[in-house]
Amino acid sequence: MARVFVITGPSGVGKGTLIRGLMERLPQLELSVSATTRSPRAGERDGVDYHFLSSGEFERHVRTGEFVEHADYASRRYGTLRSELEERVAKGAPVVLEIEVQGARQVRAAMPEAVQVFIAPPSLQALRTRLIGRGTDGSEEVERRLAVAERELAARDEFAHVVVNDRLEDALSELVAIVAAELGDRP
Ligand code: 5GP
Repeated sequence: MARVFVITGPSGVGKGTLIRGLMERLPQLELSVSATTRSPRAGERDGVDYHFLSSGEFERHVRTGEFVEHADYASRRYGTLRSELEERVAKGAPVVLEIEVQGARQVRAAMPEAVQVFIAPPSLQALRTRLIGRGTDGSEEVERRLAVAERELAARDEFAHVVVNDRLEDALSELVAIVAAELGDRP
């Protein structure tokens, strides 16, 4: 039975919103808290939204092999700590990782049994509108994220499951159906 679920896709595509909905519908899922070197946004809490680390701390964890995967994204570092996965897998809880595409590839290599879902926007223009509209990043950061998104979108065919997030409710139903089927549950 699948125990690790990787949800990937470009920034601004709605991964966070979809994952919140997914976890409400399937409350046995637990979310892995990633580490990052970026600064907290307003309202983000250390240890809840991310483990916010200095570059030095992040690098130490890289050297000691504490990351399952890690990647550079828009000039910042992001990674999944082994401890986030191992404790949950050991107690039998299914774990969700919300990560970008390079990290998803590393997880695929290390854990081919993990279920990977790529969330795609209806178009690049829709993604731009959402990234600007959510107001969490300045215009330079939005452009950096869009440049990365173009490369990320080219990777969608690598993924067994692709969910296009056009209407949120439809995309959520599709995502819930994929995960529930893998868990052997009914949504
Ligand atoms: P944000 O800065 O918007 O929170 O995240 C930027 C990107 O990094 C998003 O695509 C997000 O999914 C990804 N990300 C978050 N945590 C991780 C992680 O642990 N590993 C990897 N590879 N990407 C991550």
